[in-house]
Amino acid sequence: MKRIYLYIVCLCFSIVSYAQGDQILDGIGETGLIARYVLDGDVKDWSRNNWHAETAGVASFVADEQFKKVVSLSKGSYFTLPGAAVVGEESLSIAGWVYANTSEKNQQFITFETKSSSIIVYPTGINEQSGFVITIHTKKGKQYKITATEMPLEKWTHVAVVFNIPSKKIQVYLNGTLASEIQDIQLELTDVFNQNDSNLLTIGKSFSGKLSDIRCYRIPLSANQLERIYHNTLADGSVNEHEELEDDLPNFPEDQQQLYNTYLTAVTNVEVSTTVGTLPRLPRYVKGTYQNGIAGPLVRVLWPSPKDNSTVQKAGSYTITGKVAGTNFKPIATVHVLQEKVTYKPQESLASFRLEAVSLVLDTHQESTKFIENRDKFINTLANTNPDSFLYMFRNAFGQPQPKGAEPLGVWDTQETKLRGHATGHYLTAIAQAYASTGYDKALQENFKDKMEYMVNTLYTLAQLSGNPTEYHKNFVADATKVPPGKGRADFDSDLSEEGIRTDYWNWGKGYISAYPPDQFIMLEHGATYGGQPTQIWAPYYTLHKILAGLMDVYEVSGNEKALTVAEGMGNWVHARLSQLPTETLIKMWNRYIAGEFGGMNEAMARLYRLTGEKKYLETAKLFDNIKVFFGDAQHSHGLAKNVDTFRGLHANQHIPQIVGALEMYRDAAIVEYFAVADNFWYKTKNDYMYSIGGVAGARNPANAECFVAEPATLFENGFSSGGQNETCGTYNMLKLTRNLFMFDPKVEYMDYYERGLYNHILASVAKDSPANTYHVPLRPGSVKSFGNADMTGFTCCNGTAIESSTKLQNTIYFKSKDKKTLYINLYIPSTLHWEEQKVTIKQETTFPKEDETKITINGKGKFAVKVRVPQWATNGFFIKVNGKDQKVDALPGSYATLNRKWKKGDVISLKMPFSFHLEPIMDQQNVASLFYGPVLLAAQETSARTTWRSITLPKENIGTAIKRIGAGLDFTIDGVAFKPFYETYGRHSVYLDITLK
Ligand SMILES: [Zn+2]
Repeated sequence: MKRIYLYIVCLCFSIVSYAQGDQILDGIGETGLIARYVLDGDVKDWSRNNWHAETAGVASFVADEQFKKVVSLSKGSYFTLPGAAVVGEESLSIAGWVYANTSEKNQQFITFETKSSSIIVYPTGINEQSGFVITIHTKKGKQYKITATEMPLEKWTHVAVVFNIPSKKIQVYLNGTLASEIQDIQLELTDVFNQNDSNLLTIGKSFSGKLSDIRCYRIPLSANQLERIYHNTLADGSVNEHEELEDDLPNFPEDQQQLYNTYLTAVTNVEVSTTVGTLPRLPRYVKGTYQNGIAGPLVRVLWPSPKDNSTVQKAGSYTITGKVAGTNFKPIATVHVLQEKVTYKPQESLASFRLEAVSLVLDTHQESTKFIENRDKFINTLANTNPDSFLYMFRNAFGQPQPKGAEPLGVWDTQETKLRGHATGHYLTAIAQAYASTGYDKALQENFKDKMEYMVNTLYTLAQLSGNPTEYHKNFVADATKVPPGKGRADFDSDLSEEGIRTDYWNWGKGYISAYPPDQFIMLEHGATYGGQPTQIWAPYYTLHKILAGLMDVYEVSGNEKALTVAEGMGNWVHARLSQLPTETLIKMWNRYIAGEFGGMNEAMARLYRLTGEKKYLETAKLFDNIKVFFGDAQHSHGLAKNVDTFRGLHANQHIPQIVGALEMYRDAAIVEYFAVADNFWYKTKNDYMYSIGGVAGARNPANAECFVAEPATLFENGFSSGGQNETCGTYNMLKLTRNLFMFDPKVEYMDYYERGLYNHILASVAKDSPANTYHVPLRPGSVKSFGNADMTGFTCCNGTAIESSTKLQNTIYFKSKDKKTLYINLYIPSTLHWEEQKVTIKQETTFPKEDETKITINGKGKFAVKVRVPQWATNGFFIKVNGKDQKVDALPGSYATLNRKWKKGDVISLKMPFSFHLEPIMDQQNVASLFYGPVLLAAQETSARTTWRSITLPKENIGTAIKRIGAGLDFTIDGVAFKPFYETYGRHSVYLDITLK
């Protein structure tokens, strides 16, 4: 999710649009921006993050020749930013336009000061030093001073200060040109700012002059970027590029050794078949042969990826030539295009267990696990939340009084944020899951039960108000399609301010529920774009999806009929509005950047159909088809349904929930096209866009950390955006898609991915001592994770999915076949399962992944098959015993081994799967790779920031011989460098290394 503002400024002779109506502002992806103060009349943050400033003293807004309207400060007037805005960031850039009235010394432009640390920027010098001066004092007693040439007086100057921590530099740019730089600084921003500092960052303290367009970035801005900001603002035409590839990722020469590829002697060709119209699925890995003695892995092939299906319009054969990174091998795929129609109609053969049927337990040594720790951090904090905070904006929208003690949430749920209410949806899901998961503690469970009831009762009461007469308003509008604009207004608007919000709920149509009036939904139909003006919107259906999903989750875990009634009422409202729109309007709506982002509305409506049997909800679900991505065009001529990659370069988490929805539609309506959409998407995403932790977003090209890279299988060339990668909510949705696909097609590949993302991203996304969690998880050399929302008072999208992820950690350990004859054991996590239909209890005792074995005890009796997952990484054998006796069953890596027998009470299955080390290279630059031990990603523990990939050398015959294990946990060293599981890494880390095999 993101938002950006279209902001028009009149310069002397030209009009410049600050943003071009998309996610790129001056060539910089929006995710790099912390806050932006345009200062043309207020001190609000114009970014999506709502770090609104406050003024102290008299700040007046005055007319200005260059910027139309700017803030004018005199001594004693300044404005302050919430200190939390910059806490936890690795690097920082602050840029803005400054106009100094006098040359008086000691004027402060930027000030951050605590008892023990400070950063102060003096644009006109200090007593003992003239020119532009920055002083820094760290908590550790270090001091730095940066000086630059004098700034002209009574003239606008663009000033930028860049704290580039990985490069160990602090730089000053004046008018887009580097004016001064100090190098080799030994500084972490945490030496200056930290979580406990309530101090504020102050702009313009003791400064006399004018300021305009102050921006804070979490990335170190480059010379190019600052030059572009400067020239774009002046609109002098000297910089025109809208976006360009960032250039600060270290590159490698063409003849760089690329791991095992260096030792390849041959690569096999492949033959595949497909049917007319559908692109073939080409195997991403083929067999290779290596020089003597090397047991290399399968070889990654990079195939061209057409943007339509023109190559498969006729029956016949053709060939495709692939590449192997770092070599001249050109494997050939021969494709046979067959005439016949496909009849493959996968059946959902598996079912999951209800959350309450599975409990996480202590490990074999009676110690807690990462799963239990994370669960408890979230459950305990959730238990202490006040539901009134999550209802605040709903009551506000309906003009209802707030109960005593109710406090609004921050971040994306504040008064004027057009996404308000999104956290409430996630919260409903989280407390429903927490209720179902806390059977081990009745008091906790009761707490969540009360919370659910209170939330639903309030939402139900509000929804009942919509479109009904009131005591004072006999005239009302019940029909969703006839909702008028607010009283005294000519048109719909999205003004949510205290003064501007409309609260005439009796005119909103029956069943309406949201944390804002219906205007945003209607404006979307009329063409409104994403932005902060009252004529613009954020993403109304995205937010609604969370609310509907939350209501249905409450209904499913507790049978609360009111929750379902509220969902149905709003489902009817949506159906009424959307069913009257022409298809072209819908296509335009769903393709409108951010404004048309609808989360998984298709999933929610299909699910509502499944729960109620009401056909119109299924019809509504279909109205959310992303026709372009799913089917190419209105004629369904290609798209994902025909295996065309239509999502390259798109926003990742905007689209993953739509695919989850496509699969839900197949589940409920059996239209095969939808299955193909989900199946093809998953295969491509996992193979062509995935980082080693399981995350899939993070493009340098396009310049947006939340997007898929511009071309498939180019993660090195186009990925590793500086704003971070791996938006955590994206992986939450990928895991959901993965488990749902698995139920149709129980392949180990799915559960291998699930394990990958669960251990190495979801578990790794939570802070050490609190439920604070990550947005992006950066994987550049020497990165550090940044965690937010420890107290659950201000949610981004990822903070929203985090409270869901950590309240259902047990939900994929076991599945059952729908015919109840088979139990699937997917994950090796200490837990118990109560299998109602078979009247058995399964107890799994293990210290996995610290140890490589697990013991499964069956209490009860019955005839059923137990299928245990043999992971693809289990290449050192997989040993199965039942009651101490070796079992001779097929247990090849990447399969499920089946134990079919009559079980009796106390039967014990013992599994041993010796771990080994393996490398997971980036497909297009194989020497950049991650190190795994079994399923666990090992990250190098870095002691300071860095800009280059850490290089290590490993023996090509057996990489494990160079790796030493320390102690009984998962601590290792290579050449004296410490490695730990990424999920236990809280400091600087290198997840990707530059590896040479010798
Ligand atoms: Zn997110």
